[in-house]
Amino acid sequence: MVNNAVLEVKHLKKYYEINQGWFKPKIQVKAVDDISFTVMKGETFGLVGESGCGKSTTGRSILRLNPITNGQILFHGKDISKLSYEEMRKLRRKMQMVFQDPYASLNPKKTIRQILTEPLRVHGLYSKQEREQKTVEMLETVGLSAYHLDRYPHEFSGGQRQRIGIARAVILHPELIVTDEPVSALDVSVQSQVINLLLKLQKEFQLTYVFISHDLSVVEHVTDRVAVMYLGKIVELAETEALFANPLHPYTKALISAVPASHPDEEKQRIVLKGDVPSPANPPSGCTFHPRCSACMAICKTKKPPIITLDNGHTVACHLYE
Ligand code: SF4
Repeated sequence: MVNNAVLEVKHLKKYYEINQGWFKPKIQVKAVDDISFTVMKGETFGLVGESGCGKSTTGRSILRLNPITNGQILFHGKDISKLSYEEMRKLRRKMQMVFQDPYASLNPKKTIRQILTEPLRVHGLYSKQEREQKTVEMLETVGLSAYHLDRYPHEFSGGQRQRIGIARAVILHPELIVTDEPVSALDVSVQSQVINLLLKLQKEFQLTYVFISHDLSVVEHVTDRVAVMYLGKIVELAETEALFANPLHPYTKALISAVPASHPDEEKQRIVLKGDVPSPANPPSGCTFHPRCSACMAICKTKKPPIITLDNGHTVACHLYE
């Protein structure tokens, strides 16, 4: 076990089978294909990439919301990938998730009081009166109040609903929270408020985050390290500052080139990616990025690039660095 590691993902694979119809063989889709990374205590670890690259599947697999195909998920050194439903239910107190769409993730028929006291009740924590008190405290921590207790999710704005989703995740005092595109469904005007709330709660409750996002400007702002995913694989992993200052993989370079300049005088040359992410049901040969890569060489079309480790643990999977 890596010292101070909260989460270690080792050779995680999540494959699906798709029916093509009568008398046709099933197709195997490699949504996540042999990825490994470690998340340290108190860290915010970013997972980025275009939609369909496997980052949300990875997030759900970490919390065992999806059964995994192969690999290990170690939480404080203990492999949780094969825990029973009951063992996993107990552990969920320590591992929570904040979803992209707060409206879809909150039961519309329940009041905020019911939504927030439920996790405490399910885990047998506190008396009824204490649960009420904890709920009010948590609402106040996320910028709402006791006044909102008997209201329903539809009575809130998107930003307030996400605050409730965050309160529901934090009320159990977890150690690890996987946030899946936590602000992408919100108006730009409230995105920074919700990001600041997540950062405030991280300090207050010593939280560790896995932060899934396609928005690299947010990722640059909030994360300590970042893994870039493409077609189910990690193609680059580095400390955030190093990644943004010196991206190595052509895919990462293209993603970062699309981030708006932080200063009007800063000149940025946008690298436009050709086409869309290919279907994981029929991935390109060799380096799966090769049909879109402007630096593609002959070897890239036939041979998968190995993962190469450079200074400070900066890793990249690309033949250019062999
Ligand atoms: Fe481009 Fe080749 Fe590197 Fe893939 S391995 S990213 S195709 S240069």
